[in-house]
Amino acid sequence: MSLIYIAPIQTGSRFWLKPLEAGIHRAFGCRTRCVDLPFDLAGIFDPGRRQYNSSKILLQIIAAPPPGASRVLAVADVDLFIPILTFVFGEAQLGGMAAAVSLHRLNSKFYGLPENQTVLTERLVKESIHELGHTFGLLHCRQPGCVMVNSTYVEDIDQKSVDMCGHCGEQLRVMRHLQAGKEHL
Ligand SMILES: [Zn+2]
Ligand SMILES: [Zn+2]
Repeated sequence: MSLIYIAPIQTGSRFWLKPLEAGIHRAFGCRTRCVDLPFDLAGIFDPGRRQYNSSKILLQIIAAPPPGASRVLAVADVDLFIPILTFVFGEAQLGGMAAAVSLHRLNSKFYGLPENQTVLTERLVKESIHELGHTFGLLHCRQPGCVMVNSTYVEDIDQKSVDMCGHCGEQLRVMRHLQAGKEHL
């Protein structure tokens, strides 16, 4: 069975880890393992924007993945960006092995509200399944409520579920079947 590593970056308490592992297992049927990877944070930080470049996190994962990893999901507590956008909740390699999500703008604290660990964990699980869905080759979906719907604002995340719609679920089965076929060649 494939193994998905969860690699925290600058996160303090990991109250979200168990629900995240359960959510990933439920969505993809994969085993998970938490690992501390030696990320070069100075190389990811952009001093002008005071944010971290998520694409460079993906590159660092791809350059030295942990042994036996089918996928690696970095979970960062720093603000992530890609050059064409003000920020991103996460980023993933389409059909690849690397994904990253940020807790920073999922936290109610960022919007001047009290921190709510339940809400934060729900948002993290949805965004993580979304980004990992991209690593399985899934594209954005327009079916309201589907976890593969693109989220611009945190309210968009709250409006979708942790589940894939029927179409995305079927796509995932096809993609996994094709990938399993390749592994046996
Ligand atoms: Zn997406
Ligand atoms: Zn969908």
